[in-house]
Amino acid sequence: MSGDPFTDALHGDAGILDGVDVAPPIHVSSTYDRADQDDLVYRRNQHVTTQRLEAVLSALEGGSAVVYPSGMAAVSSLMRYLRPARVYLPADVYHGTRAFVTDQHQPWEVAASLDDLQAGDVAWLETPSNPKCLVTDIAAACAELGPKGVRVVVDSTFATPVLQQPLSLGADYVMHSSTKYIGGHSDAMGGVIVAADGNRASELEAARVIDGTIPGSLDVWLTLRGVRTLPLRILHQSETASAIAVHLEGKVPLVWYPGLASHPDFEVAGRQMRTGGAIVSFELDSHEAAAAAATRFKVFRRATSLGGVESLVEHRASVNPLAPPGLLRLSVGLEAVEDLIADVDQALA
Ligand code: PLP
Repeated sequence: MSGDPFTDALHGDAGILDGVDVAPPIHVSSTYDRADQDDLVYRRNQHVTTQRLEAVLSALEGGSAVVYPSGMAAVSSLMRYLRPARVYLPADVYHGTRAFVTDQHQPWEVAASLDDLQAGDVAWLETPSNPKCLVTDIAAACAELGPKGVRVVVDSTFATPVLQQPLSLGADYVMHSSTKYIGGHSDAMGGVIVAADGNRASELEAARVIDGTIPGSLDVWLTLRGVRTLPLRILHQSETASAIAVHLEGKVPLVWYPGLASHPDFEVAGRQMRTGGAIVSFELDSHEAAAAAATRFKVFRRATSLGGVESLVEHRASVNPLAPPGLLRLSVGLEAVEDLIADVDQALA
């Protein structure tokens, strides 16, 4: 482990059954011959490509990673493992996380504010948040909540381990939808929980064996292939996103990008994040104006999800009724910045 994401993304899994292959093979066997070894028994218990991906993600976040078949599987597995009495959720949180946590059949209560939390409860922070890119001060939240025995989880999907490292700021767990930037190519689903305490990760892994929430071979292989270039992608995509956010300012009523001085969390984002990230949300005057503009993009594809190499645009209120009606979310990819800005301009003209 080097501590530098460029090296760790490539070598965090060194030594795990690598043999002479430079590129990891795809292991598909569901069971293993016991004749000469005892380490590998059955794929639901152990899988080499999964172990390699977990080693890379552990190195990148500075903790112990456990991977799941989707971001939501990671959310639900962690919540069932933590079994809190109360959970706090920020107002602007991924709508799937809200749907899971607030589901009437769940055993926990939803806390109205962080102040209502007590020992054993969970503060679920999502920073930057989806879709407004609101930034929570992780170090300040952990300094207040940690001594009370509140467990702090950070959904860091928008930031990736390259832009921020919540465990180093005091969080107990960091979560990602690896479907997004970590995989990076819109071709694999996955989720990850990285625990600060290795014993917690071992317990999560043991729970995963009996829950059966293991990811498929191809998805973990594609995610492992994708994560190799994560540092390069997210830094370049952030640079383009920042240029688009600057370009949009003054042209539309509201731009939500934490790298802009006009964003309410600009100062904390500057302290906590390496860049403002690669998501730019902005608001038009109405639901109708935003829904119509979304259909006019030519380079940005009109699709949900984010974090891939190709740029996407989404009218969020069409899928999440709690999103501001005029909000469009741009997931900025790797296309030339001039082409993306020209596309935004023609779509808004
Ligand atoms: N967390 C955030 C911030 C997300 O944006 C998403 C998906 O969009 C998820 C969690 C859920 O991840 P998945 O779609 O991989 O289940």
